[in-house]
Amino acid sequence: DGERRLDKYDIPVEVSGEGAPPPVDDFDKAGLAEAVLRSVVRCGYEKPTPVQRYALPIAKAGRDLMACAQTGSGKTAAFCLPVVSGLVEAGGGGRRDRGSFERRAHPRALILAPTRELAAQIYEEAKKFSSQTGLRVAVAYGGTPIGDQLRDLERGADILVATPGRLVDMVERSRVSLETIKYLVMDEADRMLDMGFEPQIRKIVDRMGMPKRTRQTLLFSATFPPEIQRLASDFMSNYIFITVGRVGS
Ligand code: ADP
Ligand code: MG
Repeated sequence: DGERRLDKYDIPVEVSGEGAPPPVDDFDKAGLAEAVLRSVVRCGYEKPTPVQRYALPIAKAGRDLMACAQTGSGKTAAFCLPVVSGLVEAGGGGRRDRGSFERRAHPRALILAPTRELAAQIYEEAKKFSSQTGLRVAVAYGGTPIGDQLRDLERGADILVATPGRLVDMVERSRVSLETIKYLVMDEADRMLDMGFEPQIRKIVDRMGMPKRTRQTLLFSATFPPEIQRLASDFMSNYIFITVGRVGS
């Protein structure tokens, strides 16, 4: 526990934290919903990547997770698949009914990313993995007029992919409520901190209705400096830490 070793595929890994479920060799061993597995097949993914082998069963088991793995290792699916699966199982997703006068969106999953490009990329992936489910995905990033994003949000959103600055703006305009966030993902957390987003991230987490013990938080990063360790202990409870592959510090 907690020490770096080579796994059966000769990948260097470190896993620490109590009761981590073991890695899986196949997508269909991770406990994902049928509809989610169908979208994985549609994407042409045959086998999980190393970080997916470890992260999928841990996240699917409902555990908080801090995961470090290098760029290009498949982290997006590692967090999208368990989140989409959890939402499908909870049911009740989809479009806002037309009788609703509430303009404020109440997403159940929030994925934070540092840049517009990255948010747009995660948004595309999240839509692919939700394509068989009826869940609705929306995106919010700056550098583009807010109006279109707000109109899209009014149709309802189960999953919101956002950059911190634009999201704070929407929350302050009462167009997004964070009361119902069950899943919080922070992607490229190290880059978000480097870009100075810590105050916005803290404001966002403060507005969440569900405390850290009842929501599920997944933190992904290419590196694990002390500032990230602080975020992890502030935002997560009883979390599992994994490092997969060769990563910097
Ligand atoms: P990271 O976020 O770790 O940098 P990405 O999630 O962007 O990596 O994935 C990198 C590339 O690998 C993407 O093109 C993605 O579609 C692809 N990919 C992810 N998982 C798999 C898989 N299991 N099999 C094949 N390709 C995959
Ligand atoms: Mg990524």
